[in-house]
Amino acid sequence: MALNNDQFNRILREYDKRQQENHYQLQQRQEEIYARIPAIQQLEAELATNAVAATKSTLMGDTTALDQLKKNNAELIEAKQALLISHGYPADYLSMSYTCPDCKDTGYITDAQWQDEDHVLLSNNKCHCMKQAIVSMLYQQSNIQIALEKENFSTFSYDYYDKTFIHATTGMSAYDNVKEIVNTCHAFIQNFDSNFENILIYGESGSGKTFLSNCVAKELLDTFHTVIYLTAFELFSIFEKHTFAKKGEDNAEEQFQGILDCDLLIIDDLGTELTNTFTNSQLYNCINERMLNQRSTLISTNLNLEQLKALYGDRIFSRLVGNYIMCNLFGNDIRFKKQLQ
Ligand SMILES: [Zn+2]
Repeated sequence: MALNNDQFNRILREYDKRQQENHYQLQQRQEEIYARIPAIQQLEAELATNAVAATKSTLMGDTTALDQLKKNNAELIEAKQALLISHGYPADYLSMSYTCPDCKDTGYITDAQWQDEDHVLLSNNKCHCMKQAIVSMLYQQSNIQIALEKENFSTFSYDYYDKTFIHATTGMSAYDNVKEIVNTCHAFIQNFDSNFENILIYGESGSGKTFLSNCVAKELLDTFHTVIYLTAFELFSIFEKHTFAKKGEDNAEEQFQGILDCDLLIIDDLGTELTNTFTNSQLYNCINERMLNQRSTLISTNLNLEQLKALYGDRIFSRLVGNYIMCNLFGNDIRFKKQLQ
């Protein structure tokens, strides 16, 4: 996935901003603590002086200086943390806090590989947070983070699924059914890196399909996977643009490639787009290509299985039935219920 310079610079500026904000917050915390616990400022000054002295001694050939410094510093740091805790602060209150601790908000992770005893090869790889930032930029997904704050497993409620609402064919209550589907989703997430699986969630509008898709998206984003979330309408617009756009126009190629490559593709509301032979063949290629590359896909749709078959034909339908875990979500209209509260 590649971005043009302007888009990439926007991401880098975002990282700069994040670093500045975290620095500023640390400064604020320092000022607050120095005012409340002046002894800490002295301890920090001592830590800094020790480091300078130890560097000097090491340069002068004193090999024990570094060990002594480590010992002294450990004691000073311990004293500092004890002071913070005794004043009701967490021990790491004066440590830099990073939005992404893995890359310390630089966007890159430096890997060191020893070529031989003396030579180390350093390579700068994009951090998972940078990869996802590129995805968000490419598909203008900036809103998804906000949606995921609200819709995730910690906010998912079973209360909306009636224990007395029984499915006519399966005889299962809406409540038991959703519990089973949530378990399926958890297992899907847990085995994501070892088992190649796909999920199709189907059910009437308002049964909580998008909410559940968001739950899955959040868990996988939190475990550093690239997730692309598109409504069927957006997905087919990208296919169309990719087929008909002039070369190099509007990230068409990058967007298309990302759809095939990302760790999890979520297609929301399949069946709401206008379907024709073009969209059907594009959908087939997308589903098929991702399967060949062992990339998981989660599809949600309001259509039932008969409708899916009628709309997309045997070729797509058999791919779905053969390779997707089918989850039929049902219940009373959850959106309607929520609005009443
Ligand atoms: Zn990172």
